[in-house]
Amino acid sequence: MTEKQKRRKSWAEPYKIKMVELLKMTSREDRLSAIGQAGYNTFLLRSEDVYIDLLTDSGTSAMSDRQWSGLMMGDEAYAGSRNFYHLIETVEKYYSYKYTVPTHQGRGAEHILSQIMINRGDYIPGNMYFTTTRLHQELAGGTFVDVIIDQAHDPADTHPFKGNVDFAKLDALVEKVGAKKIPYVCIATCVNMAGGQPISMANLRQLRRWCDEHKIPIVHDMTRLAENAFFIQQREDGWSEKSVAEIAFEICSLTDIATMSAKKDPMVNIGGFLAMNDRNLYERACNMVVVYEGLHTYGGMAGRDMEALAIGITESVHDDHIRARVGQVEYLGRKIAEAGVPIVKPVGGHAVFLNARSFLPHIPQEQFPAQALSAAIYVQSGVRSMERGAVSAGRNKDTGENYMPKLELVRLTLPRRVYTQAHMDVTAEGVIEVFENAGEVRGLRFTYEPEVLRFFQARFEPV
Ligand SMILES: *Cc1c(COP(=O)(O)O)cnc(C)c1O
Repeated sequence: MTEKQKRRKSWAEPYKIKMVELLKMTSREDRLSAIGQAGYNTFLLRSEDVYIDLLTDSGTSAMSDRQWSGLMMGDEAYAGSRNFYHLIETVEKYYSYKYTVPTHQGRGAEHILSQIMINRGDYIPGNMYFTTTRLHQELAGGTFVDVIIDQAHDPADTHPFKGNVDFAKLDALVEKVGAKKIPYVCIATCVNMAGGQPISMANLRQLRRWCDEHKIPIVHDMTRLAENAFFIQQREDGWSEKSVAEIAFEICSLTDIATMSAKKDPMVNIGGFLAMNDRNLYERACNMVVVYEGLHTYGGMAGRDMEALAIGITESVHDDHIRARVGQVEYLGRKIAEAGVPIVKPVGGHAVFLNARSFLPHIPQEQFPAQALSAAIYVQSGVRSMERGAVSAGRNKDTGENYMPKLELVRLTLPRRVYTQAHMDVTAEGVIEVFENAGEVRGLRFTYEPEVLRFFQARFEPV
């Protein structure tokens, strides 16, 4: 198939709708009042007041009829639930990892992993930070070091694998602190904060060699593995004939340990796990999970949720599923970009990221342009998005200074299997209308700033 033919193929959904959830339609006045009450923070809106909810793809996807029937098969035994065994077999079959510890969600796994692997004074390199991941590293006494390629910080750069690791940055870190101070390298597939950008198989293989040389394990944040596998199939030489499932398995095989937020790729409303191949490490993780989550055969999950997760994993790596999933994101991205709206390119696997710096050039970063844009899009269209810029980046733990990240973005995140093409059209229209009147949007200042993960609960007012 030529590139052109490939592109012309429709991304139509490999499912049909069996049940619907009715939505409230609101007026501009309603929305103005709602955003004021929410302190200009879309996290604080009531979901009832939202028409199209693109806040996050976390726990918001639509489960299949098979997953729903899996809920009825829950074995809610305190110990040794049948669903636990189904889950660990599924993880090993699709993701290669031998030992799995269920947790209530991704950050539960990050907490346990950080506590057992990081010592005070350690450095943890990663292909860009993620909010909860970095926080758990810091709480364990570590310091995150960004080793992603420079192109990832440039929203206009169209590098096909912006999630790649820059080995010069890794070498420089080893030179500076020594390999003994690096408990692991943390690699996210389809890097969320970079705009849902993939890492290539070639880069990952090189990382495997580098880590073997330095005797450092690789931790895989596998939250969006399937989307990354799809991009490798589409973009990387030598992989176009392999299935997404085969590529996903290969990626996992190149890593040692994984944290999973099952609320993303595997399409459950709640859940996650920590997985690994090392028996000794597994035992230490089990000792921790019983303190913070629950017995090691359920962690933070009900039996029925583990069943829905096991089924969701098998659905998430289906070629037809992932092609439609990423296809819908690309459809929205193309529609917005064609109107001249600045977005992160290439369009990522789970979201369209608007470049708020060039969208609102009149608002300085100190006045949080992405936060202001997200609020303005809600008022215009009832579409809820999320800030991924200076507010999310927080403050430096030593100096107290605000981080001022190069990427000041608004994320329109698509839940899996939830919205239709017409919803995408309405979303694009809303964003374009705000763009045409961008001069009217004003910057924001804090009226309340929480100490950690401030983006969740912060409140603002217009400057
Ligand atoms: C969502 C997410 C997490 C955290 O998972 P939760 O389930 O929200 O606790 C970690 N890493 C990445 C890349 C994520 O997107």
